[in-house]
Amino acid sequence: MRKIAVLCGGVGGARFAQALYASLPDASLNLIVNVGDDFEHLGLKICPDLDTVYYTLTGRNDEARGWGVAGESWHCLESLSALGAESWFQLGDWDLALHLARTEMIRKGARLTEVCAHLVQQSKLKCTLLPVTDDRLRTQIRSKGRVLDFQEYFVRERCAPVCDGVLFAGAETARMTPEVKSLLTGKGIDCLMIAPSNPYLSIAPMLAIPGIREALHNRQFPVIAISPLIGGQAVKGPLVKIMAERGMSPSPVGIAQEYAGLIDGFVCDIADQAKQEELEAMGVQAKFTETLMSKPGVKKTLAETALAFAQGLGAAEIKDPS
Ligand code: GDP
Ligand code: CA
Repeated sequence: MRKIAVLCGGVGGARFAQALYASLPDASLNLIVNVGDDFEHLGLKICPDLDTVYYTLTGRNDEARGWGVAGESWHCLESLSALGAESWFQLGDWDLALHLARTEMIRKGARLTEVCAHLVQQSKLKCTLLPVTDDRLRTQIRSKGRVLDFQEYFVRERCAPVCDGVLFAGAETARMTPEVKSLLTGKGIDCLMIAPSNPYLSIAPMLAIPGIREALHNRQFPVIAISPLIGGQAVKGPLVKIMAERGMSPSPVGIAQEYAGLIDGFVCDIADQAKQEELEAMGVQAKFTETLMSKPGVKKTLAETALAFAQGLGAAEIKDPS
């Protein structure tokens, strides 16, 4: 595989991106990242999913906490709290530097895509980090007549409110960037992977941007997804809670339904092997392997399995022009 693109959210996206990064030759990895979680806080532009991917690939992420920079200090946050300023969103001192630098570049007219390219260049990463759009896109949660901004739901209220629906404010007018458009609609990629991210909160905001769902429907390349569920459990986050609130059982079958018509293959955890027939009845080829990426050796085997699977599906497509 010479060139692949990945749709990524935060933690699940970042861990999978890191797995692929180690297994692919230089410069073949193009990460297309959700910006539905982005928000303005204390005058700063904050991009949680892009930052999680960036900190993970540069080896600076706090693995145990799941977000932010390892070894972080909190002097600024403590001072903000003492001043009575908003302090519910945890901003570490090192992390703040990234938000300051980004906000300043954007204030001077840079696109978010250009900010990401600059960060990648500064840290000498050998991949492409792309926000899915440079336009404003805001995920919101509908809960019992209230509409919560994403970070209010996710961080301030710790995902406690019942999720009756997910809204993507700005999606109708947001445009995929030219960089993303050329990857998804050109003939330039050998496959697209959907990371084991939350389909409702991390992948759906990207699919809501005009043209992206269509690009996947009209694909000239194989698309595979990786399941974020392991034996009916999420590794972290509110996925199982949201599925239950939709009346769904936490199974990769429900995730595959979300991606119906968009994927050719689905990599699931071996703990979910019992779902193989049900998945294949949906017209999705399933591949089972260990997917818990914090377990030693699993990142490598998962990346290699996903790449070989996509390659096989691509070859089958060429052989069978129907
Ligand atoms: P967020 O934006 O930080 O919430 O992150 P994502 O949407 O990218 O990822 C959240 C999802 O990642 C959760 O549903 C987790 O179950 C999934 N996830 C995290 N780590 C792993 C892992 O090691 N293996 C698998 N299969 N899923 C994972
Ligand atoms: Ca996120």
